[in-house]
Amino acid sequence: MAQIIDGKAIAAQIRKEVKEGVQELASRGKTVTLAVILAGDDPASCVYVRNKEKACRELSIHSLVYRPSESITQEELLALIEELNGREDVDGILVQLPLPPHICEKKILMAIDPAKDVDGFHPYNAGALACGEPGFVPCTPAGIIQLLKRSDISISGKECVVVGRSNIVGKPVAQLLLRENGTVTIAHSKTERLKEVTSRAQILVVAVGQPEMITREYVRPGAVVIDVGIHRDENNKLCGDVDFADVFDVAGAITPVPGGVGPMTIAMLMHNCLEGARRSFQNSLKKTV
Ligand code: NDP
Repeated sequence: MAQIIDGKAIAAQIRKEVKEGVQELASRGKTVTLAVILAGDDPASCVYVRNKEKACRELSIHSLVYRPSESITQEELLALIEELNGREDVDGILVQLPLPPHICEKKILMAIDPAKDVDGFHPYNAGALACGEPGFVPCTPAGIIQLLKRSDISISGKECVVVGRSNIVGKPVAQLLLRENGTVTIAHSKTERLKEVTSRAQILVVAVGQPEMITREYVRPGAVVIDVGIHRDENNKLCGDVDFADVFDVAGAITPVPGGVGPMTIAMLMHNCLEGARRSFQNSLKKTV
């Protein structure tokens, strides 16, 4: 039977640490500020933004939420980002995805100042991660590493397989596992004999976006299984990319859905906001010397 990795508890611990950091900066006169842009009223995006606002409130992070209508033009959105880039009080900028179809996502993400890109999606930050330089790391992948470390699961020297190669999850989590000295394989929809590949993994990270695709046949006995997926099944119950019930007694440790990777994403977003604020505070001190 697998150890269940408690993402809720680990996320709560990180939020507590972030809150202490925010308070420490506040005592030195610096308020941590996150600007969130939600264009349109996509119901899932509205829920995500509400959750982010709530987390900011709990951690005493000041949040500015911009809710332009779905008909906002690309130029207007770029102008708003430009304005936020220039504001010294704004430490982080987050544009909630997906954007309305007439807006080029790539152009918008590229317009965010990399020093305020708390989602870590800007190519500058992706490059920094690939080169081992400091920068913002995307929140879900950063959260996965924290789940492993804080569960005393060592990565160094381990066979790690990541299923999925998206820019927001698969590729950055693979980079982070490599940074932690894992031996990393990235699998995707064109991978041949996927079961053979995943069965090598001592740490298996699944981000395929396919409900309950990963069954026990894909899992090496005793492996640590990290399930990034979030879906609603036919009974409207949340489930992941891993068939939890089937894999549970094969894996050594496993993240549940809900309560595994999910809570880590917002916790790491808050962490990134604090990091951004710390860096901008340090820079402002240098300027005044
Ligand atoms: P994408 O759809 O962008 O990427 C999915 C990846 O899985 C692609 O690389 C694709 O390969 C690969 N893939 C799809 N089908 C198969 C298959 N049958 N066999 C092998 N590989 C396959 O998804 P994301 O990375 O954005 O998200 C993945 C999951 O994580 C989703 O369920 C999403 O909802 C969830 N998620 C959860 C978050 C959280 O906070 N918990 C945050 C972000 C995402 P190819 O490149 O060849 O097409």
